[in-house]
Amino acid sequence: MSTAATNQASTTTKRDPVFDELDFPSDPNNLYTQTVATMLEAADHIDIRHRVKIILAQPKNEIMVHFPVRMDDGHHRLFKGYRVQHNNACGPYKGGIRFHEDVHLDDVKALAFLMTMKCSLVRVPYGGGKGGIKCNPRELSPGELERVSRRFMSAISTMIGPDYDIPAPDVGTNAQVMAWFADTYMMSQESGNSNDGLRVVTGKPVQMGGSLGREKATGQGVVDVLVEMLPEEGIPVEGMRVSVLGFGNVGSWAARILQDLGAKVVATMDHTGAIRNDEGLDCHALAEHCVKTGGVKGFGASTGSGGSTAKGAEAISTEDFYRTPVDVFIPGALEQMIKEEQAAMLDCKVVAEAANAPTTPAGDRLLSERGIEVLPAILCNAGGVTVSYFEWVQNKQCMYWDEERVDRELNRHMVMAARRTMLARSRYQTNMRLASYIAALEHIANVYEVRGIFP
Ligand code: NAD
Repeated sequence: MSTAATNQASTTTKRDPVFDELDFPSDPNNLYTQTVATMLEAADHIDIRHRVKIILAQPKNEIMVHFPVRMDDGHHRLFKGYRVQHNNACGPYKGGIRFHEDVHLDDVKALAFLMTMKCSLVRVPYGGGKGGIKCNPRELSPGELERVSRRFMSAISTMIGPDYDIPAPDVGTNAQVMAWFADTYMMSQESGNSNDGLRVVTGKPVQMGGSLGREKATGQGVVDVLVEMLPEEGIPVEGMRVSVLGFGNVGSWAARILQDLGAKVVATMDHTGAIRNDEGLDCHALAEHCVKTGGVKGFGASTGSGGSTAKGAEAISTEDFYRTPVDVFIPGALEQMIKEEQAAMLDCKVVAEAANAPTTPAGDRLLSERGIEVLPAILCNAGGVTVSYFEWVQNKQCMYWDEERVDRELNRHMVMAARRTMLARSRYQTNMRLASYIAALEHIANVYEVRGIFP
């Protein structure tokens, strides 16, 4: 996730005067600058107050910590971690924590900003935050991973809280890491093991206060958006062809749920390789294969659940993956992977952005010129934070929902967010990305209008 390359979202290259007022660096390829540029472009459509623009253009707090961890061989390694609290006008800061070697402050700021927009669009009462540790979790032993997680939580525990800032999983972290975070946070509080501390993170294991349906929630949300919006594109979900970039939490769940609805997931690619089957991959068996082997590579030889032989798959090149003809392409890996080069290769009608900021502005422009509809990330991947909110509510009430209720409430939130976006698009005659920002900004601007600015 390097800031050096290119960037998400904005369809314009003009520099907004707000950047000069706030003394932003002039690097147009910086991910944070680009996400703010998209917000300012959207704000122009709705004549939002200047004070709201400048507040949203900068995060409220940027926390950086360095902390030593004892490694298995006895030596100590110093790690760098971040927590960015972008905005809390609509509720506590909320957003994932990522373990990845390419974590940089400006990227974390951009992701925190996107969380503010996303929570507002889907109308969950949260603001936006994001965090990360610069490390490769695949290179850490289970013991080292636990010590890194606990030491980071200990370093930031006075700056977060169940009603102030609530982390969650992201790339490279999972329910187990959330369990260590929650336990460490609770141990650091005067009230000790008080149940209230559980709410400090979401995405926990179900046996420790997690919500049913949280693990698949982001993928489920992507599918809910597609089911709501594809009729407008004249694409029936049953029988449609799909390719998925990234087969981790978000990509694999979106693929599995789409397959269950009758779609054919014909190609996928992750960090280990790319595979294709024109008859449709068995995504459930593929997900099991990934758990066992660490990636999609070599899937053809695996066996599916119940011992049945999984449908085979042919290994393909990266270029063949992008060129595979599909109705819907789902980028669900990392930021900034769909540059101009990839956008030129894509053979699809719709791009559903499951990852955060997967498309660079140049990629975005080319997709638009080619008549490919882009369903924006702050809409498509809002399912995760929505069910995180449900988890937080359940923890608060000490009353737990069945999965059917979680799915039903999630669907309601996703459908309403999709409709808000479509309404803004037709009202302001913009593309879908700007429409989603407008729908989010209108809500935040209304909140600032009634709250006012202290003092
Ligand atoms: P994950 O770590 O579970 O999966 C990431 C996937 O990307 C893996 O399959 C990995 O192999 C693949 N990948 C990494 N580098 C790659 C490369 N160079 N080429 C091809 N594939 C590559 O992460 P995730 O939780 O599924 O998150 C994916 C994206 O979705 C991220 O942008 C994340 O911020 C976003 N997101 C996640 C959630 C959530 O609930 N997990 C919610 C909202 C948004």
